[in-house]
Amino acid sequence: MAKNKYYLTTAIPYVNAKPHIGFALELVQTDVIARQKRQDGADVFFLTGTDDNSLKNVQAAEKAGLPTKDFVDQNASIFQKLTKDLNVSNDAFMRTASEDHFKGAQKLWSACDPDDIYKKRYKGLYCVGCEVFYNESELIDGRCPEHHTVPEEVEEENYFFKLSKYQDKLERLIADDVYHVVPDSRKKEILSFIRMGLQDFSISRSVARAKNWGVPVPGDPSQIMYVWFDALSNYMTALGYAENSAQFKKYWPADLHVIGKGIIRFHAVYWPAMLLSAGIPLPKKLFVHGYVSVGGEKMSKSLGNVVDPFELVEKYGVDAVRFYLLKHMHPFEDSDFTIVKFEEAYNADLANGLGNLIARVTNMIEKYMGGTLPHELRLIHEFQSKVRFFIEQLAFRGALQEVWLAIQDCDELIDKEKPWALFKNDTKRAENILEDLAVRLYNISVALRPFMPETAEKIEKALTVKPIVKYSGLFARIDS
Ligand SMILES: [Zn+2]
Repeated sequence: MAKNKYYLTTAIPYVNAKPHIGFALELVQTDVIARQKRQDGADVFFLTGTDDNSLKNVQAAEKAGLPTKDFVDQNASIFQKLTKDLNVSNDAFMRTASEDHFKGAQKLWSACDPDDIYKKRYKGLYCVGCEVFYNESELIDGRCPEHHTVPEEVEEENYFFKLSKYQDKLERLIADDVYHVVPDSRKKEILSFIRMGLQDFSISRSVARAKNWGVPVPGDPSQIMYVWFDALSNYMTALGYAENSAQFKKYWPADLHVIGKGIIRFHAVYWPAMLLSAGIPLPKKLFVHGYVSVGGEKMSKSLGNVVDPFELVEKYGVDAVRFYLLKHMHPFEDSDFTIVKFEEAYNADLANGLGNLIARVTNMIEKYMGGTLPHELRLIHEFQSKVRFFIEQLAFRGALQEVWLAIQDCDELIDKEKPWALFKNDTKRAENILEDLAVRLYNISVALRPFMPETAEKIEKALTVKPIVKYSGLFARIDS
């Protein structure tokens, strides 16, 4: 096993609709961690992908008048494009429609303790939107708490998984942080869910109800796997679990799963229970982020307030979008997105803040020092480790607040010392101040590498090119 491996994943979204800003948030959060770990010398494997096997996808395809496979292929490629447009450094993109995934999901099913899977006639209330059975008591006025739709009544013979057997074990693993759920509020939430009592859950459906879409249950052609049972296994099948590949042996177990708060039950309860049953090591950490609302409303097609991450990148540039999601959206809690606030932050923090600072400093170095600094740029370790500390806590906003405080300090130093005036009577002091500013800016760029990779590279280049010349045009102001 590699000494220093780090395996992290995003969740895999359904491809029934185009990606929204909430998934963009998850991609860039995970990307920051991946880039930071690589910078630290870890052997990183970063996985994202799509859940192609959901019944939701089948229904969306029917609505679009397309064969399910064509519809799913088409939408999955849009998610793949999003990873490119957001400059996300994933090492693999897993689609659960792939043959490797089918084989791996079936292998996991077969690896579960045979005592844990049994057949039972069942009647329940199923929300296709959630792909989950609800108890009457969990519904609000008979409707799904997430979708506000009336779940459909389903009666058939399915396979069940003996989740109840794992209740005590799961409680201990999560309480003791063996499987570490972050933030603490989510850990408490899932512990209280476990303590209410875990019920066995259905892990298959009839071929007819699944519309013959999904992973067949091994040895029973009448049944298709419950979509979550197969979807969760993507974290292993993407590494080559089916053939027990060298890659799987090297990277499993996952060091970190990044997910949204709506699917915590699947990742903190079902998933570890399935792995325990199959005798497979558990992932180490689960990071749960909040939702992104738009103008105070839940994003929805019917409200017409879906923010398209592609349009944002197209209009404002990739790093501006990454910056806003990471600095202005709360890493753990729900956050609200509006274009007005986005543009305000863009002008204040990027155009006037960072962009203006780099222009001012490089301009003075060119004008007063002939574009040459007397010493090599160096790292300020105290500052770097401060930013690093926040990243390790997954507190992306805190890390960037630290960086923007440093930018503010630079502006204050310039306004206070007025280097352009100092050059008339105290050249030495003026040169020291400009060099100090260059070092601080260089450190700002190093800290920004995992967050805004292209911007960090541009700043570093502007400060290391010989001779240094005025660098302007980083984040032009938006006038609306
Ligand atoms: Zn629902």
